[in-house]
Amino acid sequence: MKTDDIRESFLRFFEERGHTRLASDSLVPANDPTLLFTGAGMNQFKDEFQGKGRAKAGLRRACTSQKCFRADDLDKVGVTAAHHTFFEMLGNFSFGDYFKREAIEWAWDLLLGVYRFDPARLAVSVYEHDDEAYAIWRDVVHVPEGRVYRFGEHENYWPADAPSKASAGTLCGPCSEIFMDYGASVGCRRPECAPSCGCGRYVEVWNLVFQQFMKQEDGRIEPLPTKNIDTGAGLERVAAVLQGVASDYETDLFVPIVRQIVELTGHQPKAGADRVRIHRMADHVRGAVFCVGDGVLPGNKGRGYVLRRILRRAIRDGHELGMGEPFLYRLVPTVVEVMKQPYPELLARRENLARILKAEEESFLGTVARGSAVLAERIEQVRGSGACELSAQVAADLWDTYGFPIEMTEQICAESGLKVHRAAFAEAMAERQAGSKGGEQFGQVFDTSALAQAKLATQPNVIETDLEEREAGRGWGFIQAIVAGESVVEEADEGSSVIILMDHTPFYGESGGQVGDKGTIRTATGLVEVEDATRDGDYIVHHGRVVRGKIQTSVRPNNPASLEVDTGRRDAIRRNHTATHLLHWALRTVLGQHAEQAGSLVAPDRFRFDFTHFAPLTPQELERVEELVNQRVLENAEVVARTTTLAEAKAAGAMALFGEKYGDRVRIVSVGDFSKELCGGTHASRTGDIGLFKITSEAGVAAGVRRIEAVTGEAAYRRVVELEAQLGRLAEVLKTPRERLVERAKELVEETRQLARELEKAKRQSFAGAGGGPFEEKARVGDAVVIAGILEGVKADDLRLACDQLRKKHPSVAILLGTRDSSAANLLCAVSADLVKRGLHAGNVVKEAAKHIGGGGGGRPDLAQAGGKKPDALQAAVDAGVAALVALLQKSQT
Ligand SMILES: [Zn+2]
Ligand SMILES: [Zn+2]
Repeated sequence: MKTDDIRESFLRFFEERGHTRLASDSLVPANDPTLLFTGAGMNQFKDEFQGKGRAKAGLRRACTSQKCFRADDLDKVGVTAAHHTFFEMLGNFSFGDYFKREAIEWAWDLLLGVYRFDPARLAVSVYEHDDEAYAIWRDVVHVPEGRVYRFGEHENYWPADAPSKASAGTLCGPCSEIFMDYGASVGCRRPECAPSCGCGRYVEVWNLVFQQFMKQEDGRIEPLPTKNIDTGAGLERVAAVLQGVASDYETDLFVPIVRQIVELTGHQPKAGADRVRIHRMADHVRGAVFCVGDGVLPGNKGRGYVLRRILRRAIRDGHELGMGEPFLYRLVPTVVEVMKQPYPELLARRENLARILKAEEESFLGTVARGSAVLAERIEQVRGSGACELSAQVAADLWDTYGFPIEMTEQICAESGLKVHRAAFAEAMAERQAGSKGGEQFGQVFDTSALAQAKLATQPNVIETDLEEREAGRGWGFIQAIVAGESVVEEADEGSSVIILMDHTPFYGESGGQVGDKGTIRTATGLVEVEDATRDGDYIVHHGRVVRGKIQTSVRPNNPASLEVDTGRRDAIRRNHTATHLLHWALRTVLGQHAEQAGSLVAPDRFRFDFTHFAPLTPQELERVEELVNQRVLENAEVVARTTTLAEAKAAGAMALFGEKYGDRVRIVSVGDFSKELCGGTHASRTGDIGLFKITSEAGVAAGVRRIEAVTGEAAYRRVVELEAQLGRLAEVLKTPRERLVERAKELVEETRQLARELEKAKRQSFAGAGGGPFEEKARVGDAVVIAGILEGVKADDLRLACDQLRKKHPSVAILLGTRDSSAANLLCAVSADLVKRGLHAGNVVKEAAKHIGGGGGGRPDLAQAGGKKPDALQAAVDAGVAALVALLQKSQT
C-alpha cells in the first residue's frame, strides 16, 4: 500500500464515522509559547480538550494527518530505523463524545479491515489498572488473552508517569498501544520478551490515549466530567510495516530521496557510517523543507537554530561523502514530489525552498573556510606555548561561531599533534545549549497559568461581528475576567497592573506582525489605561493599569465598560499596514514572483518587511520600488476587506503568507485591482491615506531573506524635512550652494588626495635632507655605522621610509628606529647586505629589543619589524638593540 493511500484511507475511514477531517496544523504552533515545534496531533485541539469545544464550535470528532517535528533525539536520527526530525502522525480525536469502546473497536477494524494486518501478528498493551480497556480488548474485540499486556504508568500513561509526577491541573489518562509482533526469531529471543522490551521484536503502531482525569493539588487524580480520545499512529512506521520493509528509509516516502543522494554522492547506504549519513541527510532535508515551508528560517536561536543545526549536520554528512559544494537544495524537488499529494502548497514554493537551502549551504561552506583559518591560528598559538591540547572553550567557540563539529576540530588538531579534551568540550557545549532550548517540558503540555484559568471561565472575544466596531475603534462591553499578579480576581484597585478579558472589544491584539492597540477601558467606578493588547488563540487580551478608582468583573446588565482605542496611533498603524501590502506587490513586480513576505512588524512610527530574495537590492531597484508604491498612493485606490471561505479566497488568487495557517473563514484585503492578500489586520480605507512612502533601509537578515524598513505619513514627511535640514547644514559647512554640493565634495576629496601626496613627498625630503633627522650615529666599528633613534608619532611605514633614506647614504650600516604613540610602540631594524654576511640578523636583534616594550616580532636578516604595548620603554629597547648590534659587529671583526 502506498503511503499516500495509507494516509488517505485513514482519514476517509474516520470521516465515514462522523469525524471532521481537518488540515494539519503548522509546524510552528500558533500562539503557544510552551512549544518550539508541533510534536503531536493533539496540539491544535488543546482548547477542545480543555472541555468547551470553544475554538471550533460544535466540533466533537476530528481526524488529521499532522505534520510533526522533534529535535530532542537528533543523535538517533539515521542510526535507528524509526527516529525522525519530521514525521506525520495520523490521529482520530473525540472531544467529550465517544470513548474507549469505539476508539478500540475502530482502531482494530481499520488495521484488520482496511490495512489487512494479520491479527495473529498484533499485540496490545493497557495500563495495569485499566480493567475497562482490558475487558474491551478481551470481550469485544476478542484478542486472545495472552496477547494483551498490562504495564505501569511509565509505559501506558499519557503524559508518561502522570499519576505520580505530573503537576496539578494536567489533563491525563491511561493509554493502550497496538504493536506489530515480528516474531520470536527477531530481537532478544527471550521467551519472556514483551512489547515493553525494546529489542525490536515489537514495533508500536498506534497509541490510543483515554483522557479522563485531571491531576489535583493534593496529588490525586480525579475523573473529568467529559472524557476525550486522542490517538496517534506514526505514518512512517505504519508504511514500513505495510510495505514489508524493516526500516522507514525503505518506504516510498524515503526511497526516491535516498536514491538521489546515492546518485549525487556515489556512496551506497549499505552499512556503517555511510548508511547513517545517507539516511540522516534524507531525514534532515525533509525536515528542513517542511520547516522552511512553515516559515522557519535558519538562524541563531529557537526554531531557526534547530533548523540550522540539522542543515549543517546534513551538509557535513555530504562533505564526508565527498560533496564539495551545495547539494541539499538539489534534493528539494524530490522531497516536494514525494509529498505533493497531501501538501500541494509545497509545489508552488519549491523554488523558494531550494534557494533558501542553497543560500544557507553556501554561507556555511564559507564559514567553514573562515573557521579553518581561525583554527590554524589557534593551533599555532598552542604549539608556540608548548602545550599539547586545544582548549575546550576554543573548540566550543568554533562550534558556535563556525559550526565546526568536534570531530573535524579533533581531526585537524591531530594533524599538528594536538588533542582536544572531549569531556570538557561536552561540558562547555551543555552550558551554552542550556540557554537555547525551548520550553517543552513535562507538565507544560497544558497552560495552567491564571490567564489560562480566566480563559476557561469566559467566552472567546474574537468574533466576526466585532469587525465594524473594531474598525471604529470604540465600543461597549462587559469585563469578563481580571487577572492581577498571579491570580484571577473579582476587582482591582487603583495602581494595579491588570490583564482584562472583555466579552467583546474593538482593540486589535498583536498578531500577523501588527502591534496591539493602546487605549482605555472605562467603567462607572474606574479607568484602565490599556498599554498593549495581545492575541491569545481566540481571545484579545488587554494589558494595562488601573489609573483611577477600581474595576470589577461585571454581572450583566450592570456596570458596562466603554472601550476606546487610541485612534491617532491606530491610524498611523493602518497606514503602515496598507503600505506593507503595497510594498509586497511592488517588490514582486520589480524583483520577481519569488519575492515573498517572510515576516513583518507594523508599528505606528515605522514598519519593517522581510522577504525572500537572494542579493542586496541595487539603488535602482530600491528607487523603483519606492516610486511604484508612491504611484499607487497617489492613485488613491480603495482598500476593501471581505470575509469568505479559504477555498474561494484561493480561487480568487489571494496571496497567503509563508507558513501561516488559516481557518476555513478568511479575510481578503484587496487594494485597487492589483493586490489581494489574506490578512486580519487594520487598514487605511484608501491608499491616499498613506500620504508618502519612504524607504529608510535595506539589509540582509538571514540567508536568502532581505529586510526593508520604511515610514509613511507624518513619519515620512518628518524624514524628508530632516534630510532637507541636513542638506542645509552641509551647504553651510561647505559654504556652497546646495545645487553645487556634490561637485564641491568631489573637489574636496581631490584636494585632500593632493595634499596627502605632497605631505608624503615632504617627509621623504625631510628624512633625506636632515642628515638623519632625529637619528644619530651611535657607533662606528671599522667601516660599519650603527644609526638609531626615535621618531615620535609616525606610522610604521614612515619608519621604513626613513630607513630607506639612511641606507642610501651609508653603504655599510645597521639601523634601529623606533616610533610610538600613547598606547603602542614599534621598532624597525635594517642591516646592509655586507653586514648580513658578517652574521648580523635584523630579525634577532629586533626580537630581543622588543622584549623591553612587552612585545614580539621578527623578520628577515636584512629587515625586520616588531611592536609592543609599552611605549614608555621604547628608549630602553632602542638602547638594548644598539648595544646588541655593536656587540655583534665587534665580534664579527675579530
Ligand atoms: Zn525482547
Ligand atoms: Zn496584512
